[in-house]
Parts: sequence; C-alpha cells; structure tokens
Amino acid sequence: MELQVLGCSGGIGAGNRTTSLRLGDNVVIDAGTGLADLPLAELARIDHVFLTHAHLDHIACLPLLLDTVAPVRTTPVTVHASQSALDTLQRHIFNWQVWPDFTQIPHPDRGLLRYEVMERGDTFTLGELTLTALPVLHTVPAVAYRMDSGKASVVFSGDTDDHAPFWQAVAAVDNLQTLIIETAFADHEAALARASRHLTPQRLLAALGALPGGLDIRITHLKPFDHELIMRELTGQASAGLQLKRLLQGDVIRF
Ligand SMILES: [Zn+2]
Ligand SMILES: [Zn+2]
Repeated sequence: MELQVLGCSGGIGAGNRTTSLRLGDNVVIDAGTGLADLPLAELARIDHVFLTHAHLDHIACLPLLLDTVAPVRTTPVTVHASQSALDTLQRHIFNWQVWPDFTQIPHPDRGLLRYEVMERGDTFTLGELTLTALPVLHTVPAVAYRMDSGKASVVFSGDTDDHAPFWQAVAAVDNLQTLIIETAFADHEAALARASRHLTPQRLLAALGALPGGLDIRITHLKPFDHELIMRELTGQASAGLQLKRLLQGDVIRF
C-alpha cells in the first residue's frame, strides 16, 4: 500500500498545502488544499474521503472536489467521519448557501455525496486495507486513523492535544511502522497550543518516551512561520534513538 502526502502544512503560502493524504488511488484522508494539486483524472477516481474532523484546513477542497468531478462520476463519493463532523458539513457547508447540497445533486435519490458515520473504534475494510478510527483530543470531535495494509500499519493523528487514550491505542498497534503526528506549535506558543488543542515539541517528546524505539515518526501540521523552529526544538531535545523527521509534501510511505 502507498500513502502519498498531498499536503501536510499547518497553513498556506508558497508551496504549503494543508492536510490531505492519498491511500492507493481511490482513498484520501482529509481534503485540505493539498488535494487540489491532483490531476483531474486522479480526482475523478476518489471514491472515499475519510475525515479526521471538520476544521477548514482538513475539508477545504471537499466541496470543490465534488463540484469538479460531478460531470464524470457515475457513483457517489463517500465521506466517512464522525456523526458530529458530518452534521457540521451538512449544516455549515452543503447548505445551499456556502455550497450546494451534493447529497441531493444530481438527483435526490442518487446524490454525488454520501455520508457514512465512522466513530472512534469503528473499522472500515477496503480490499486488504483496514482503516480504524482512534481517539484524539481536539477542540471539536476528531479522530486519528490507523491504516493497516495487512503487513504493516501507519497511524495518522490528525489534530490532537496530548491524550492518553490516543497513546494507548498507538501502543496497542502490533504492526506499527510509521506514526504521523502533529506538532502545530513551537514551545513558546504552549498556551495557544493548549487552548486550540494541539501539540508542542516538549509535550510530544514527553509522550513519545513511552513508545518502542525504532519507530518511523513523521511530524506534520507545522505552522509555516515556525516550521524550522519546531523541528529544531524537536530534534534538539529528542533522546537518542528517536527517529523523528518532518513529513513533507510529496512523500510516499510504503507499508
Ligand atoms: Zn483542527
Ligand atoms: Zn488542522
């Protein structure tokens, strides 16, 4: 299985794209601005969108995706997310005011957009791939995803504060190869990170100490103005043996 990083920045501007990861050719995790760079034919192939939560940086290109592929799709695009996130999308995005209600287009009986509830603990199987929603802590209901190819797993945190149930779920993944974990803010923004339920280098490193060594750890969602500082703070304080790298747009993780 291949996981391709379409966007992994905590902001925009000159080469930065917000969160979107593509699994194989027909699944994406989050639909931030990174999604917009795919060629038309590849956009048209997306059957499933799994959302970690409904914040704008993770959904910005979902409405535009549906509008773009509508003329060439004969089957719906299924959006998998918590009931709370789906309610947010329906109420605040697909409400005929911000954007058309694609659950009713092209026809109320066969909308292009389908919702499927995925709460923490739920799994969804697609061929050999199994996705499992894991608990995280954010300002709105949110999940992380475990992606299991049958050979190995990648866990992607989405947005989260430090959260013991998340770390317990990560530690329980028996075939974990790669952990993609957010660190949105530098340590000097600790108060803002707490208020917005994101991680800082110090708090991430404290939590990582309990995980087994040898894990491939990729840092995502760095705020653009502080990305170098965040990585310096992480690598400067990390204990020997921790394999920490910044996740980069264009990275392909095979598992
Ligand atoms: Zn968020
Ligand atoms: Zn975010």
